[in-house]
Amino acid sequence: MRFPTKPRFPRFGILFKLILVFASILVIIYFTTSNIFDYQQGIVNISRDVVKVRFEVLSISQSMVDSLLSMEENQKKYEVLRQDNYREYFLSALREYRRNLASIQWFSYPGSEVWRELQEQFQQTFPSSQDLDAVTRSEPPWLAQEKLNTWTERIFEAKQANERSIESSMRALYAWSERSVRAGMIGLGVSMAVALIGSAYLTYSFFRPLRELRRGIRAFTLDGKLTSVRVISRDELGELAQAFNEMTARLTEEEKMRTDFIDMLSHEIRTPLTSIRESVNLMREQVLGSVNDRQKRFLDIASSELERISRLLARLMQVSSMSSRFITLSFKPVDPVHLLHDTVDKATPQAEAKGIAISSHALPDVPSVMADTEHLRQALLNLIGNAVKFSPPGSTVEASLQLADGGNQLLFSVVDQGPGIPDAEQPLVFNKYYRGETLKKSADGIGLGLSIAKNIVEAHGGKIWLSSRPGRGCTFFFTIPIARETQ
Ligand code: ADP
Repeated sequence: MRFPTKPRFPRFGILFKLILVFASILVIIYFTTSNIFDYQQGIVNISRDVVKVRFEVLSISQSMVDSLLSMEENQKKYEVLRQDNYREYFLSALREYRRNLASIQWFSYPGSEVWRELQEQFQQTFPSSQDLDAVTRSEPPWLAQEKLNTWTERIFEAKQANERSIESSMRALYAWSERSVRAGMIGLGVSMAVALIGSAYLTYSFFRPLRELRRGIRAFTLDGKLTSVRVISRDELGELAQAFNEMTARLTEEEKMRTDFIDMLSHEIRTPLTSIRESVNLMREQVLGSVNDRQKRFLDIASSELERISRLLARLMQVSSMSSRFITLSFKPVDPVHLLHDTVDKATPQAEAKGIAISSHALPDVPSVMADTEHLRQALLNLIGNAVKFSPPGSTVEASLQLADGGNQLLFSVVDQGPGIPDAEQPLVFNKYYRGETLKKSADGIGLGLSIAKNIVEAHGGKIWLSSRPGRGCTFFFTIPIARETQ
């Protein structure tokens, strides 16, 4: 089997995706801001024209009209009443008019030529400033009524044109402001939409592969199953999923090799071991001639050690075949109460030899179930065997059977008063080849008993778990569904 180590597809990395989303938001913000800036520039230009030109022209032209009206009024009053103060009033209005006419020349805008014409006409009428004083010393009219009317009319028209221009500028100002607000709103909306869609896309594209990986990792950590995961994305998470699958394939392959190796080794050892055991037994039983006491003692030791090795080997072969995840069960009706008592009876000699009291309890009226008797017995025996193996002499082991889940499940439990299992080890004990750190020195075992029990229980559709307080023993539970629909 080959285990590729390099990614096989083009990458659209996480960084690329993040940059794509943030760059889109930045581009939208840039265009929105530059649009708003253009509109603001237009607004500033119009406002400058209105505030610095049109309003000034409006107020000066209004003063000029006022001055002309004042001149006309005072000239008429003087003509009727002949009082000198009207002459003074006329003169000051005339000066005011001249000053305003001079200052309005500073403003230049479409239509501002009218002020130049009025200035020329005024200068033709009053060529120098001495002429102003001189004119009021003469007899009225100091300024012909006709001229006064023409000037007033011209100024009035210019003032109205200016007012119209102010009005249209105000409208333009309003339109520009509206456009600027609209551009801002659209930009804000679009960038929010892109941000939302972008973050939803990023969340979705990160979440799915991560969820898939979590599924694969959980299947291994919780159930000890090596399953491959779907490679969903083409980014680093996709690479991670691919690496996970390669790791899974490698572990599966290695596990198979290990099982094959154990199988091969057990079979290879069994034949010579049987011959050695037979030979030793023949010698021990003095079939091949008499042996003295000292020789017999050593032959006894050899025989008992050979027995132990044979037992271990038999168990190794049995568990190696049962440790496969796909156990083939043959379902038959089983009386669980009988199965419980029978299994406890089998373990009794071992328990008694260790000075452990073992007992079994079952509720009456427990129904029969469809199950594989031998496998179920094996699962129960593994739990009881462990309880006996790890418990100290003088303690008790209790196996019981009751109904659970409203009568839908059989619930087996095995309670002991042994050393218990530390919290950190509890999730690991059902893993293959796992052996507790403290106990593996003091007891025989290969770390497969619980993993096999789990496989058997799950193949029946049940669940297995434990509860333990270190130093206070532990209880193993497992359920077997009573109603079997499939299989
Ligand atoms: P083995 O018994 O061959 O070591 P198992 O799979 O049966 O393998 O058990 C795995 C580990 O779980 C044991 O090594 C031991 O640390 C722990 N264990 C199992 N049953 C008990 C028990 N009744 N009391 C304390 N520890 C236990």
